[in-house]
Amino acid sequence: MKLFIIGPPGSGKGTQAEMIAKEFNLKHIGIGDILRKKVLEKSKDGKVIKDHMDRGDLVPNYIVDKIVNDKTKDVDKFIVDGFPRDIKQAEGFKGKVDKIIYLTSSDEVIIKRLLLRKRVDDTLEIIKHRIRVYNEDTEPVIKFYKKKKLLLEINGNPTIEEVFIDLKNTLKKIFFSKNSWGKFSP
Ligand code: AMP
Repeated sequence: MKLFIIGPPGSGKGTQAEMIAKEFNLKHIGIGDILRKKVLEKSKDGKVIKDHMDRGDLVPNYIVDKIVNDKTKDVDKFIVDGFPRDIKQAEGFKGKVDKIIYLTSSDEVIIKRLLLRKRVDDTLEIIKHRIRVYNEDTEPVIKFYKKKKLLLEINGNPTIEEVFIDLKNTLKKIFFSKNSWGKFSP
């Protein structure tokens, strides 16, 4: 099972990714978490990453693409959360992906959740900027995967537990139901 999970900031993709990883025994690759760690490690790219994250801008693709390709290489079962965030990232992914989970959420729910979270990049001004970046850069990614029939749209507005049950059951149906030849799909 090779999954990406995308959605607006505050849609709950990190939380759901963690729960789904546990449920299906997948490697959880949280791009935002990895980037935040790199800032703390004061790595070579750390300053570039920090500057972009502090503004709510996307971290340059030469950094993100390398992380994703390295972390997913030779891994059979994974869920990457927070990738791809623009078309270039989608096209730059060298591996195979089975499904892209798209967690939808209304603007009111998103802003309420983010303000409760109290992360450094969760001030109202930066949140608004991140939503703008999402609408401009990430929305086209959704169309890209819809065309390829890889998109799995899930309503992210209900509670964490309700969203998880919906997502878990949908994935079970896709990956563990037998097709007409008695084989597991895909
Ligand atoms: P997240 O933890 O997914 O909310 O991401 C927090 C921040 O990390 C974003 O606002 C971006 O600055 C950066 N980030 C996370 N994922 C990516 C990505 N795929 N490409 C570029 N920047 C990213």
